[in-house]
Amino acid sequence: MGTKVNIIVGSHVWAEEPDVAWVDGEVVKINGDEAEIQAANGKKIVSKLSKLYPKDMEAAAGGVDDMTKLSYLHEPGVLQNLATRYELNEIYTYTGNILIAVNPFQRLQHLYDSHMMQQYKGAPFGELSPHVFAVADVAYRAMIHEGRSNSILVSGESGAGKTETTKMLMQYLAYLGGRAATEGRTVEQQVLESNPVLEAFGNAKTVRNNNSSRFGKFVEIQFDKHGRISGAAVRTYLLERSRVCQISDPERNYHCFYLLCAAPQEELDKYKLENPRTYHYLNKSNCYDLVGVSDAREYLATRRAMDIVGISTQEQDAIFRVVAAILHIGNIEFAKGKEVDSSVLKDDKSKFHLETAAELLMCDPGAFTDALCKRVMVTPEEVIKRSLDPYSATISRDGFAKTIYSRLFDWLVDKINSSIGQDANSKCLIGVLDIYGFESFKSNSFEQFCINYTNEKLQQHFNQHVFKMEQEEYTKEQIDWSYIEFVDNQDVLDLIEKKPGGVIALLDEACMFPKSTHETFAQKLYQTFQKHKRFVKPKLSRTDFAIAHYAGEVLYQSDQFLDKNKDYVVAEHQELLSASRCSFIAGLFPPPPEETSKSSKFSSIGARFKQQLQALMDTLNSTEPHYIRCVKPNNVLKPAIFENVNVMQQLRCGGVLEAIRISCAGYPTRRTFYEFLHRFGILAPDAIEGNCDEKAACKRILEKKGLIGFQIGKTKVFLRAGQMAELDARRTEV
Ligand code: ATP
Ligand code: MG
Repeated sequence: MGTKVNIIVGSHVWAEEPDVAWVDGEVVKINGDEAEIQAANGKKIVSKLSKLYPKDMEAAAGGVDDMTKLSYLHEPGVLQNLATRYELNEIYTYTGNILIAVNPFQRLQHLYDSHMMQQYKGAPFGELSPHVFAVADVAYRAMIHEGRSNSILVSGESGAGKTETTKMLMQYLAYLGGRAATEGRTVEQQVLESNPVLEAFGNAKTVRNNNSSRFGKFVEIQFDKHGRISGAAVRTYLLERSRVCQISDPERNYHCFYLLCAAPQEELDKYKLENPRTYHYLNKSNCYDLVGVSDAREYLATRRAMDIVGISTQEQDAIFRVVAAILHIGNIEFAKGKEVDSSVLKDDKSKFHLETAAELLMCDPGAFTDALCKRVMVTPEEVIKRSLDPYSATISRDGFAKTIYSRLFDWLVDKINSSIGQDANSKCLIGVLDIYGFESFKSNSFEQFCINYTNEKLQQHFNQHVFKMEQEEYTKEQIDWSYIEFVDNQDVLDLIEKKPGGVIALLDEACMFPKSTHETFAQKLYQTFQKHKRFVKPKLSRTDFAIAHYAGEVLYQSDQFLDKNKDYVVAEHQELLSASRCSFIAGLFPPPPEETSKSSKFSSIGARFKQQLQALMDTLNSTEPHYIRCVKPNNVLKPAIFENVNVMQQLRCGGVLEAIRISCAGYPTRRTFYEFLHRFGILAPDAIEGNCDEKAACKRILEKKGLIGFQIGKTKVFLRAGQMAELDARRTEV
């Protein structure tokens, strides 16, 4: 985003500063290619001239509601604008068609009330202040008028506000496409109430967010030809299974466990539940309560939402029996048995929990113990039952708990879909995507790999779209756009998903080959991608690998990749549960389809995820997309704190800066002829005198000032990056 502007002593500029990203100041001295700056914060800074950006001294005091209105479109200008607005509780800002939403971390009631909804209904885009409602309104109207499906893609890092934003979008769409209140539950009510149900089972408190979604979600709202909501479908992606058995302080397990422990006493008696601190799956962390949330109240609210969504009382009872059973399962402990490498239940307590779990799951306690402690081995000669040592039995137990929980979650999603109902005739839909943003932690595993793969896909989609929009604007104004070069991340996508030979394919191969380990898998990656520009083998590790993603390099630890990629249910667990006397539970474990060959038996999480993602991209590609980028202004989750460096990083990862870069590669500044003359007429008064052709006057001014590369469209002047600043500088010379 380089701007080639003459910076002289006295120029007002932005200079880089590590702690705050950018500071503004005045150039006081220039030595060769370096400048000395007296910063507004009192410091003296020395910087390379090429690293300085001109500061717009005429920037509106309250900021501008659309970044493209900034005279100087560059990083510090963008950041300054967001910060200024955030201070005024203006949390929404456009960048062209993209909405940037900065999490306020406080309820701004008036922003979302019914009066607001009324105002945004049918208002031309850009007329009112930027808002999620405006985006939903555009999508809805485009759908009605053009008969095309639309989608709204909400992204951002954990805690940035994706889910809250999604809920507001859905509320607004329900408002536009809802029916007048009739008896019974309406489709839109069911659609809205599916949120609390999914959140109870798929959200948890993490260090980043007290209500973090641990799955991705695409909600497709179907409309009939009158624009009324006629059906909806929810698709979910990759629920975090490991959380069921493993949490670390100060996080929590899925909300439903705590809600159930706060249920009315007669239910606790029924499920033989006590204080959450009793349970191994919950007490690895010291956090049980959420500030400002009553689990008891949430329990009742979840039950109510389940009613509305159409989950029967019997089904609800079975669901919570499964939830309770999982807590009991976690408390089953094993000790060494008499035989070598065998295990038995550790004590009476373990026996109690096993029996209770068996009772809740309605299966035979003896068979249950065997399913946890033994494995059937089929050899060509015979079938033998092999015992597991206590350590392996514990792993078997946790695998059991995770499997049953993820099946339960999938059941809920299916139930919501069948209960709301699909409108097969609907030709128009609005899809809303609420999916995890780019992740890079100290330690990154298979989950981060899949998440970042998703983000690469979405980023490509985004870039292509932004690029297309730019082109359309240029075409409309009939100017030449051959300038713009387009950075594509296809090379990263090839590295990950190419078949054969991509990381996912190699991982599947490793999983199918019994002798592979994560070491052999890593070696294979190193060999294959030795020369790949996006692949990095770290010097000091023999099993880690790094990928240079569009948003930065991420180092992955390969040690759990194989295990996490394998998608199978232990046959003994499957058998036990499909024999449950409870039809709900047996129904979660239908007999697996007959296998024809050995190879078809293998299914992997990675390959399935890749398929799901492709299906999602196909859907998105058939829609007109709209983008909302959520930004988390601080990591303490408090209002009124805006951390520059942090926000900058997110704008980078969310592609906002890339979008700006694409636009800078072309003609980032556009001004109508009138606006242009108003600002720069002073540069060449003779050019306007007696001349009523605005277009010709603009051209004359630009030529007179020796600018090259600009373009004159049908209604606007298009300037290259930095040219606006250059003209401003000339203006002060006059
Ligand atoms: P994750 O990826 O972890 O699911 P997320 O992006 O979905 O994160 P949210 O759960 O939507 O994040 O938001 C986190 C919290 O921020 C909310 O619980 C809420 O307290 C606050 N928040 C987000 N958006 C708003 C808003 N528009 N108004 C008020 N508070 C908000
Ligand atoms: Mg969320």
